[in-house]
Amino acid sequence: MAITGAADLLATWEAGLAEAPAGRALLLHRTARPDLDARALPVLPVGAREADLFTLRRALFGERMQVRLECGACGEDMEFDLDAGEFARTLGGPDESVVRVGEGGREETTVVRVAEGGWDVEFRLPGVADLTAVARAADPRGALIARCLVSAVRDGTAVGADELPAPVQRRIAEAVEAADPGADVTLNVACPECGHATRAELDIASYLWTELDAWARDVLLDVHLLATAYGWSEPEILALSPLRRRYYLELCADV
Ligand SMILES: [Zn+2]
Repeated sequence: MAITGAADLLATWEAGLAEAPAGRALLLHRTARPDLDARALPVLPVGAREADLFTLRRALFGERMQVRLECGACGEDMEFDLDAGEFARTLGGPDESVVRVGEGGREETTVVRVAEGGWDVEFRLPGVADLTAVARAADPRGALIARCLVSAVRDGTAVGADELPAPVQRRIAEAVEAADPGADVTLNVACPECGHATRAELDIASYLWTELDAWARDVLLDVHLLATAYGWSEPEILALSPLRRRYYLELCADV
């Protein structure tokens, strides 16, 4: 992955300030995958997006991610490290061989197949766009099945999404989870004080946005200090490597 320059990253941050979390996640995903058409991103399997965001996090801020979590039983403040690179590798998205790319790479979908007991069902792995679309439905699970069902056949006869019995729906859910394990990154952390295991979801998009926000505010402060001291323009200062920026700032502080 190409590391985005400071000016581009600042532009991403600025655009994200006015966005809700879903919009920020999409902006970050675009930064992570400049090689893909922006319209293809919301239909990528959710786990593939999470893997892309861990890869971006690693490229921008390194492998080591510090996470804080409060014990669900005793309230102990737990702090620990996670490895962004390992998440990027293990979530790695579904097997490329089942990814179907449409014309011009515009539509990229991954289909899982469940065939048993006379049933033959093909189901598209849900993307962020699908989850968003069904979030407010009265029956989100049913709506998701209706949306992502490619085909359902029972004993040779085509069947509608609303006719799938519960066991078949369960099998679809299991197949989707197996094909897209990164869709749900759940941490299970044992408390060093009381031993209670606390489960928490790791939302890499919001984690990364928080980091980007802090980084951007630091960079703006650097620009302000260096512009004041040397009279350089913002593009000139952003074009400096972080190391040189730091060095000039130290010189300013020494005077
Ligand atoms: Zn505890």
